[in-house]
Amino acid sequence: MAVSRAMHPEKLLAACTIKGLHVLGTGDALHPAWQREWKPFLANKQGICVIPTGEVEDEHRVHHLILAEDFGQFDQLRDLFVSKSKSISTNGRPHVSLSGETIAERVHDVGALIGPAHAFTPWTALFAYHDSVAGCYGSEPIDLLELGLSADSSYGAGIPDLSHVPFLSNSDAHSPQPEKIGREFNRIQINGSLSVRGVLDCIRAGAITMNAGFFPEEGKYNRTACVRCFTQYSLGQAQQHNWRCPADGGLIKKGVFDRARELSRSPPGSRPPYLHIVPLGQVIQTVEGVSSPGTKKCRAIYDAFISAFGNEIDVLIAIPEPEIRAIRPKVADAIAALRENRVILHPGGGGKYGTFSLV
Ligand SMILES: [Zn+2]
Repeated sequence: MAVSRAMHPEKLLAACTIKGLHVLGTGDALHPAWQREWKPFLANKQGICVIPTGEVEDEHRVHHLILAEDFGQFDQLRDLFVSKSKSISTNGRPHVSLSGETIAERVHDVGALIGPAHAFTPWTALFAYHDSVAGCYGSEPIDLLELGLSADSSYGAGIPDLSHVPFLSNSDAHSPQPEKIGREFNRIQINGSLSVRGVLDCIRAGAITMNAGFFPEEGKYNRTACVRCFTQYSLGQAQQHNWRCPADGGLIKKGVFDRARELSRSPPGSRPPYLHIVPLGQVIQTVEGVSSPGTKKCRAIYDAFISAFGNEIDVLIAIPEPEIRAIRPKVADAIAALRENRVILHPGGGGKYGTFSLV
């Protein structure tokens, strides 16, 4: 449900290699059928560390992200949630009729980690329904906060409740395409060899050295805007109009940018650097002026980069510009502009995605 038919462990692992990822979350690990799909691949993961992960929706429709050491912890959670969930066997992200606090207690009881998923999304997320972490989780601590595609670290850095909570920038990919998987990622500092426990310990210790992902302005609820005509309003204007668009009577939806600002205090706390990136396929699509990154021409250029440099993330952030230029000058210009932050953003809002242009 709600994911690509191509979503299969084999394809996901292959996509990680092309993308340059070393750690991958399974998603939907509460579901036994999805676990069964994974099991044959856990012995030979081609050097990729696979973390069992999943989301649940609580009684107030807030989504929570769970990271576990093994599928067995998710089996225990399924047993604890089954009497409180009608959708646990049919939905990869089931609704569980328990509070956020009770869910977090159960997750900690089995030894797994939990925090709000896509915390700033204006629907089905922590800050859509609560003004504080305790409002949702009571006295139970959280281990992480997933920023979601519509926020970067700066959106949470000034929120006092979050001062000791590590931020994760995860892709939440619903397809193994390189424009989806690894569209956001985290860099972590592992001591010793790569293992699931090592990764979870790093997150617990906040040993995240970099977050990377979209410009939040690209998000479709970034600014406060009418959901019908997408006209953007300041918070003051929206209040003055009683959250109804004067042009067409449409609902004005509070944007993530304004929501984060009203929860924040200054000065913001210090956070690991957040690198704004655009998937290489989308860069190629933009500079070549074609309709999608899936066109034959785009894929051929993309493949030329991967065969030359090994993986996409290196092309985006590490390979020297002259070497990129040797493959495709227009792509080199765009990557240089992104690296130097020569970007003009046209924020989204009200359900309409934002856009950007390179200068
Ligand atoms: Zn309107």
